[in-house]
Amino acid sequence: AVTVGVLALQGGFIEHLNLLRKAASTVFSQTKSDTSFEAIEVRTAEELARCDALIIPGGESTTISFVAQQSGLLEPLRDFVKVQKKPVWGTCAGLILLSNQANATKKGGQELIGGLNVRVHRNHFGRQIESFEAPLQLPFLAGEADPSPFPGVFIRAPVVEEILSKGGQDPEVEVMAKLPGRIDRMKSGVSQAVTKDDSGDIIAVRQGSILGTSFHPELTDDARIHAWWLKQVLNV
Ligand code: GLN
Repeated sequence: AVTVGVLALQGGFIEHLNLLRKAASTVFSQTKSDTSFEAIEVRTAEELARCDALIIPGGESTTISFVAQQSGLLEPLRDFVKVQKKPVWGTCAGLILLSNQANATKKGGQELIGGLNVRVHRNHFGRQIESFEAPLQLPFLAGEADPSPFPGVFIRAPVVEEILSKGGQDPEVEVMAKLPGRIDRMKSGVSQAVTKDDSGDIIAVRQGSILGTSFHPELTDDARIHAWWLKQVLNV
């Protein structure tokens, strides 16, 4: 049996659970595996201990870490990610929490789970109204049946502004995707040209069992990244 948890303290956890279940039905029908699969909401250390892998959703990273701290979940999360090294995927706020350093914290520091040896820049693209959607060619999905661009939803999204070490670390941080040049942002429903050159901003990284994405696949109905990630979790 495989149990995948979604951290359910705040943010888009329901959306992740829905896509995870959708992805699981695709992956299990493809692989004809008879393993039983369960996706659960995680709010306690006991629930976390049942999980083979975990998703940390988008939302507000300061809130998620505050609630995790208050509920005694921060240390168990650090243990899950960095000691047990179970597979973890963070989206947006989740990426921030999984990074070793974060910038642009308004009121000083915030507790992070860490694990990805990178520094993220929070709210890199600006405020909520500067949210945008961009079609992404994700190299890691290239082998999948549907090669069409992935709808990247960026809401007060972070980017990885620096990889803190290359070499000497095992495993190393891999850049999984960057923003292409000249994307058209959708601002308030209107497509506008990018004013600042975002090309080359790092929007997905992996280090060993930890994956982080700046954008929110959970806010689309596209389960391809969930399916791709799940196949690695299940080792199929
Ligand atoms: N900017 C948010 C933070 O710092 C993340 C935004 C999001 O997850 N949509 O946590």
